[in-house]
Amino acid sequence: MLDFLNRNLMHPLMARRERSRHLDYLRVLERTQYDQPAVVRARQLAALKVQLRHAHATVPYYRTAWRAAAVHPEDVRSLADLEAFPVVTKADLRRHERDLISSAYDAAKLRLKRTSGSTGVPLNIRIDEPAVQWKTACTIRSDQWSGWRLGQRVAKVWGNPEYRQFGLKGWLRNLLLDRAVYLDTLDLTADRIAEFAKAIRRHRPGLIFGHAHSLYLLACSLKKAGVDDIRPNGIVSTAMILHDWQRAVIEQVFGVPVTNRYGCEEVSLIASECEAHHGLHLNADSVHAEVPKDGRLLVTDLTNRAMPLIRYQVGDVVVPSGGRDCRCGRGLPLIERVEGREADYVITPAGRLISGISLTENFALLIPGTAQVQIVQESLSHLRIRMVSDAGFGDAGRRKVAGLVREVFGPGVRFDLELVDAIPQEPSGKYRFCISHVARDHLQALSA
Ligand SMILES: [Zn+2]
Repeated sequence: MLDFLNRNLMHPLMARRERSRHLDYLRVLERTQYDQPAVVRARQLAALKVQLRHAHATVPYYRTAWRAAAVHPEDVRSLADLEAFPVVTKADLRRHERDLISSAYDAAKLRLKRTSGSTGVPLNIRIDEPAVQWKTACTIRSDQWSGWRLGQRVAKVWGNPEYRQFGLKGWLRNLLLDRAVYLDTLDLTADRIAEFAKAIRRHRPGLIFGHAHSLYLLACSLKKAGVDDIRPNGIVSTAMILHDWQRAVIEQVFGVPVTNRYGCEEVSLIASECEAHHGLHLNADSVHAEVPKDGRLLVTDLTNRAMPLIRYQVGDVVVPSGGRDCRCGRGLPLIERVEGREADYVITPAGRLISGISLTENFALLIPGTAQVQIVQESLSHLRIRMVSDAGFGDAGRRKVAGLVREVFGPGVRFDLELVDAIPQEPSGKYRFCISHVARDHLQALSA
């Protein structure tokens, strides 16, 4: 009953109050997802042409880069014609941040997203409001493929609960609308996991959401504690590689299939599994994706006009599906899988577990002058921090590293800071953000 009211009353009321059209967009997206692939492609081509013309007219970076490459939006007659346009890398994005913002927008009034991206490279992204609303609708649509329905409570296994960033307003919004229950993965202990299990038993969330390794850790500790009566409608795993062995344990404990979702802060949702769980559907309504021969995914954002990303190299390697259709009947194209981010949990001398993904994200965003970061836990008292730095890195950055290590791990932990030219990808295309040589035993104790 509460879920019904929340879906049909609170969400529309709040959307009207915030002047957000995302619920209208959601209705459109739910209808058009069953359009034939040719219709989807035609819609993408039309959206692409509009975006290219807009970028050419108002974004200084593209005007220069496209002139140098002798390409022009008016030459694009098919999606394949885009291949002649130059690729935008993360380094380009960092270097030309200002020139990538459309002159049609006032940069100070745009929504700013700070992210460490999918490869640990800190970036500033600007997004216009209609694009935020459209992307929100896309994400709700694919999250509903998991079995969850908008309005049902969500349990989040996540570092840095979002609502805390927005003070009283965020707290109220969470209380009335999202009604989310959190397990903070930056500070995990056996007691907190037990508390969280109690909370989700009481609140019966429709969705459990988190990074693959956090969902797995949660499932392992519930399994060990003999808890087998938590039954959400869906589970969404996001932002990093979900291994089959992790999926198996999570599904066994919660009795529901895991929906694997892939995206990045720069363009939001890129692809998600549907209820068939046989590959991931590309979010063709918001991004156009290209998988070149080397597998390194390129995305073109079809909706964000404030800072259009065109042929942007996300940094992850994608395996295409060979053009097969999904049995769910949706016309959105499929990819087979993503070789994305991989990270271990680390453990502090006091016995707290910390999600490696959340930890490296925090380091990359908080240390001035960081271009990329990788943390290796050699022993309980020794860390190796590998960093690609840029011109902005200096004494303040070094002090910040020392401060963060002390704050997160306690005073007795020493670290070596290694400034390197690059943090290489594994041969498969995986990025290992965080490697721990000591947490494994502890994690085994949790699940054995
Ligand atoms: Zn499908």
